[in-house]
Formats: sequence, structure tokens, C-alpha cells
Amino acid sequence: MYRLAFLLLPLILTTFLRGQERAPEDRVVLVIHGGAGAPDRDKMPLEIKKQYHAGLEKALRAGQAALQKAGGTSIDAVEAAIKVMEDSGLFNAGKGAVFNRDGRNELNASIMDGKTRQAGAVAGICRIRNPISAARAVMLKSPHVFLIGEGAERFARDVGLEMVSPLYFWTEGSWKDLREAEAADKTRHGSGQTSRALPGHFGTVGAVAVDGRGNLAAGTSTGGLTFVFPGRVGDSPIIGAGTYAENDSLAVSCTGHGEIFMRYTVAIDIAARIKYKNESLAKAAQDVLNGLPREPGGVGGLIGLDRQGHMTAIYNTSGMYRGHVTAGGKTNVAIYDKD
Ligand code: ASP
Repeated sequence: MYRLAFLLLPLILTTFLRGQERAPEDRVVLVIHGGAGAPDRDKMPLEIKKQYHAGLEKALRAGQAALQKAGGTSIDAVEAAIKVMEDSGLFNAGKGAVFNRDGRNELNASIMDGKTRQAGAVAGICRIRNPISAARAVMLKSPHVFLIGEGAERFARDVGLEMVSPLYFWTEGSWKDLREAEAADKTRHGSGQTSRALPGHFGTVGAVAVDGRGNLAAGTSTGGLTFVFPGRVGDSPIIGAGTYAENDSLAVSCTGHGEIFMRYTVAIDIAARIKYKNESLAKAAQDVLNGLPREPGGVGGLIGLDRQGHMTAIYNTSGMYRGHVTAGGKTNVAIYDKD
């Protein structure tokens, strides 16, 4: 009797494990985020929530279409999804970028190809309509990884990207955020307090994807943070901090208090735990996020995806705009826990 059970054990185990595996169409192929700076659930009007859901859904569909095109790559999907979010004006990237202390927009973006580990990034730009496309152009059409300011803009113009006036990035919402941050700063000074805290409006966008060949890609695009010093650059364009992709581990895009994500090299830390400690994507990502310094309101969040289509989307703020699409075309968008 025992002997029979022992002999059947491998069969029972394989059947059980197969049952745990997802069907190929349920594998996630694209995950996006629109920043971990959502206001508290009770402060989010239904109408606005619907706009965000629609914006995320549109970005997912654009990314999915790019993947489905003949020869479509994960890099195509990441760029397509992020471009939609940059153009929407809803998120703190592209059109909706926030203002620095000078009342100017300085945009940053990066992209990475998990197969080749090629990467491109731009920072401190205000004349390129789609910073993510500029990052991709740096990766593919220059011998460099990172271009900043006027040089990045000249390069983008030369390779034929769409250029805009800096005024294109003016939006009422971002201007209001700046005014509020200025007023809060004055009050702090008036009361003799000094603070190094940054306003918690994390609306950066990001995408991670895996294509039919099992190649990963990641990208992130941002207007930075409201009321920062001119010239400040956060984690989003930094490979290994805000963005990273490598087929051996995962593709990851972060959002949150950039200074912390840079100091803790969040993206590369997650990749290293998967690669060298054999941790699951979910555990590695959660442990790294849990290990970051705590701040009132939380420090941010991230999305990750591996070649098998396992994903994570986690945050320690009130909410993170996010969504994913499966190989079978099912989409899911959410802002809060249990959405
Ligand atoms: N991480 C971005 C930055 O610090 C901000 C964000 O995620 O919204 O520039």
C-alpha cells in the first residue's frame, strides 16, 4: 500500500503542480503604472477615477497592439504604452509634467532592452513631446546611454522626433500643485521650520513588457517632483534605480520619492535578489520596498514582470495607478487596494 503511494507520488505531484500553472493566455505580457501618488480613496471623485481608468486602459491597448504587430517587440510595447500616458495630460509625464521651483518643466525618461541590456535615457528636457521616444533614440541611434538638457534636445531634433514649445507642458493642474507647494513652503519658513521633505505627488508613468520571443523591456517617464530645485534629476532616468530590464531576472519600473529610490538602487536590488538568491519576483520586490526608509504618506511603488509572465505591482502609498494585460487580451486597471 505504502509502496504504491510512494510510486505514485511523482505523478500526483506533477499533476498538482500543472494545476498551479497558468494557461498560456493568462500570462501577463504588459504592466503599466501611472505613479504611486493617488490621493486617498475618499478624496478621489468618481468622474476623475473614471478618467484615470480610461487613460490606463488606452495605454494598455496601445502597448498590446504594438506587441501583436508582426515583429512587435517588448520595447515597442513599452514605448507605445508610455507615449499614450505622456500625451494624456493625466499623469506627471509628457504633457502633464509638474513644475520645478522656477515654474519650469524638466522631463526625464529611460528605457532598457532586457535581451541586449542596451539602454537609453534623457533628463532635464523641455522641448521634446515624448521623452520616452527620445530615450529610445539615444539607445538605438547614439553610442551613448544618457543625454541631458540642450544636447539631448538637439539630438532628438536631429533624429526627427517631434519638438514642442516649453509652453506645451503647461497644465492648470500642475500649476495649481506648484502654487500649493510654494504656499506650504512659505508657511514652513514663517513658522521657522526647515524641511527637506518633498511634496508627495508621484505621478510618473512606467511600463514593463515581455514579447513573443520572451524578451523583456522596461521604461519610465516623468516630470520629476513639484517644486524641486532646477536641475534636480530623480530615479526615473537612472538605469538600475528607477528602471531596469534583463532577461535573466525581470523588467522593473519604479515611482516615488526618487532620492530614496536612487540611494537604495531599488531596480537593480530586486534584479540581483532574483538572479543571485533565486528569490521569486514577488518576494524580491516586496522585501526591497519594505526595506526602504519610511515617510509619512509612503515612499512609492513599482511594477515588475519576468519572462514567464509573472508580475508584481506594489506600493506603500494610498494608491498607485496601474494596469496589466494578458496574452489572451484581458485587461485589468486599478488605483487602490481591492479595486
Ligand atoms: N520618482 C519620480 C522622481 O523622483 C517621481 C515619481 O515617481 O512620481 O522624479
